[in-house]
Amino acid sequence: MKECPYCAELIDDLSDKCQYCNNIIPKKEKVEDFEAKNITESEFYEPDFPWNAVSIIMLVLCVLNILIGFYKIMIYENYSWSQKNAYVGGDAFNYIINSNYGCAYFTLAAVFAIFCIGCRVIYYLDVIANKK
Ligand SMILES: [Zn+2]
Repeated sequence: MKECPYCAELIDDLSDKCQYCNNIIPKKEKVEDFEAKNITESEFYEPDFPWNAVSIIMLVLCVLNILIGFYKIMIYENYSWSQKNAYVGGDAFNYIINSNYGCAYFTLAAVFAIFCIGCRVIYYLDVIANKK
């Protein structure tokens, strides 16, 4: 049972019309839905700068640099018919060059990882700061 908002008589929960004053009873669940939607819309905040998108780009660059680094270190062929990561005739020189490449790419990957984490931290700080 619920109370009619117009005449205060008790009427059936499912009825959309009061049998005492003949007024139309507004649907309670629709009002609740509208209120719930309004709350989620007002609490949802998106920063002006796309920190999330930038952090994903940084993550992709980080993974890319790790893969290139491993390619330089793990893949090596120095034959007359197949050359992979070979620059000069001597194997030892090529290993030294590739290990330097590996170090450089892993360092770049670390820099991008820091940028990625930084973007996410800024995003969450921004969201927290703008939450009411
Ligand atoms: Zn009524």
